[in-house]
Amino acid sequence: MKISVIGTGYVGLIQAVGLAELGFEVVGVDIDSSKVKLLNKGECPLYEEGLESLLKKHVNKNLTFTTSYEPIKDSDVIFVCVGTPQDKDGNADLRYLISAIKKIKETIDKDKYKVVVIKSTVPVGTNRKVKELLKGYNVDVVSNPEFLREGLAVKDFFEPDRIVLGFENLENKKPIEIMEKVYEYFKSKGVPLIITDWETSELIKYASNAFLATKISFINELAKLADKVGADIKVISKAMGLDPRIGDKFLNAGIGYGGSCFPKDVNALIYQFIDNNVEPLLIKATKEVNERQIIWFFNKIKSYYKNLNGKTFAILGLAFKPNTDDLRESRAIKLIDMLLKEGAIVKGFDYVDKARENTRNLYKLKLWRDYGYNIFILDDLYETVKDVDGIIIATEYNFNKEDWEKISKLVKEKVIFDGRNVLEPEKVKKLGFKYFGVGRR
Ligand code: NAD
Repeated sequence: MKISVIGTGYVGLIQAVGLAELGFEVVGVDIDSSKVKLLNKGECPLYEEGLESLLKKHVNKNLTFTTSYEPIKDSDVIFVCVGTPQDKDGNADLRYLISAIKKIKETIDKDKYKVVVIKSTVPVGTNRKVKELLKGYNVDVVSNPEFLREGLAVKDFFEPDRIVLGFENLENKKPIEIMEKVYEYFKSKGVPLIITDWETSELIKYASNAFLATKISFINELAKLADKVGADIKVISKAMGLDPRIGDKFLNAGIGYGGSCFPKDVNALIYQFIDNNVEPLLIKATKEVNERQIIWFFNKIKSYYKNLNGKTFAILGLAFKPNTDDLRESRAIKLIDMLLKEGAIVKGFDYVDKARENTRNLYKLKLWRDYGYNIFILDDLYETVKDVDGIIIATEYNFNKEDWEKISKLVKEKVIFDGRNVLEPEKVKKLGFKYFGVGRR
């Protein structure tokens, strides 16, 4: 079976490389020629553990990349994995998706049967719209939302919790059989395949992300109360999580969720509720709690120092979560922006080389216009904390493992704002640090 993947970002690249590893002949198509050039050399334009070695293993064998849509003519299955960012109203911007579908239409043979699979996260009704755009073509359109987690994407490709497939008509067995063949490896491993209609499949994706975001906002709201009354949110989370009906995942209080999915998907779901005259009470609150969380945390920092002008801070963690280079909606970047606006000096560090590189690139653009030379991204954590007035932990890495005794000797002022509750307060307090967590007394 020949497969093509349109869009080789975080989702498409994993899909292309993963399917190549499963033995399919795969072509990845992207409009970004610099990306395609790198990929064909076996170099990864993004950081994801284990991805580059798999890419090297298959590239120019059963996996190729191109900017041309021509090869999709021979594909049996076409996965569409282009970005669906947020538009100005908060809904998903389908511009890239529509343009990819139009290109598919221009390229493929009208009568040659193909399955077009929409992997991008798209609002309810989009698969129907895609089918309409491809009217008159011998194609079936399948909704197949993606659930991978950045930072664990390769693992998630090979060990998914479930595979969701939405079809126009469940009586039509042809596309169902083809998709079952594509995902045969997973089926044989016992991964549940949820076979449903388009609308249900589209909503499963938004429901899953909004639920996880709500869990985070719930514990973050509770952490503010814990902070006031002197309770420890870490112990509360642990005890709550031991109840299997609740579960311990996504119950860590902190400075809120970011990334390329949760914020935009929560917004798009709110939009879909409003568009259908249903009030999104809970989901709207999820979003609001998240937006306020970082402000609440920043105010903690501000009220400690009174004046941030001229103060130097080490920001530990730059990407929106550990083990990725993705800065989209990263809380660390939001904090950096807030600090710079108050005249503070920022020294940033992340364990992922590419996260540091991306941050440097990001601020190089802003540097002249907005802030001057008040931000430095360093390659070494100990250099980063040297002579700072405070340490701010922004990404959920296990910074506990670092040598805090050494750090205590390097900083100017021994103050830690732990935005991810990753440190053991007693340990650092013994070294003379003042410790401020999120809801930790
Ligand atoms: P991305 O921005 O990393 O990648 C999108 C890619 O599509 C880019 O390389 C871009 O150049 C390419 N592209 C855009 N228009 C194109 C066109 N017409 N033809 C060919 N290529 C085109 O995006 P992503 O993070 O991979 O997300 C893709 C989709 O998957 C989104 O809908 C997102 O919501 C969803 N999703 C993302 C994740 C995640 O963790 N990143 C997880 C689940 C679902």
